[in-house]
Amino acid sequence: MIRLGNMLVSPGEGGVYGERTLDGYRVWDPYRSKLAALYTLGGGVELTPEMRVLYLGAANGTTVSHVADYVETVYAVEFAPRPMQDLLEVARRRKNIVSIMADANRPDEYAPFMEAVDLLYQDVAQPNQVEIAMKNIVFLKPGGHLILMLKTRSVDVRQDPAEVLAGARAGLEQRLNIADVRWLEPYHHDHAAIVCTLRE
Ligand code: SAM
Repeated sequence: MIRLGNMLVSPGEGGVYGERTLDGYRVWDPYRSKLAALYTLGGGVELTPEMRVLYLGAANGTTVSHVADYVETVYAVEFAPRPMQDLLEVARRRKNIVSIMADANRPDEYAPFMEAVDLLYQDVAQPNQVEIAMKNIVFLKPGGHLILMLKTRSVDVRQDPAEVLAGARAGLEQRLNIADVRWLEPYHHDHAAIVCTLRE
């Protein structure tokens, strides 16, 4: 990942959502993007030019656009019409974002548009976040990575966040090896990043 001083940046041209640019790079703000927070905290999976990424919960394309600056192709799934409009605009100006309006609970609906991916990134804030991830690992190459941004309050607002995290880990460990887990404080509250590798 590229850093200018202590600032995470990505190498794409032109502002996408009003972000700052510095020496021709786009500043990737950890307060605005959970993935930027993960990298800023020293975790994550290195993004490389040959990578294909499936991104679940694309929203209006803020983080998607930074990922697209680093990798070959991003398949960006979003089910809400309003953010989808913004995502389409972001994708229109880039050649390597494939926008897919679909429910991440139904991977069969977008399977025809997909190829095998090196990284599955998920940020959907749903009660069944682990179930959604497990359904979508069908697209992941053996040895590929999953980064799950777990919003504990979306799973159960009354349960201790540490217990929610333990439950998520147990679910993921059925098919994946967990490489790293970290809370995204101080950038994002009640969010844990779980980084896993699909067993060969
Ligand atoms: N990842 C985005 C970013 O960093 O810019 C923010 C994502 S926002 C927290 C969660 C998004 O997931 C929302 O836009 C929501 O509509 C979408 N979402 C939630 N459940 C989904 C599902 N089952 N399928 C597709 N998108 C979903």
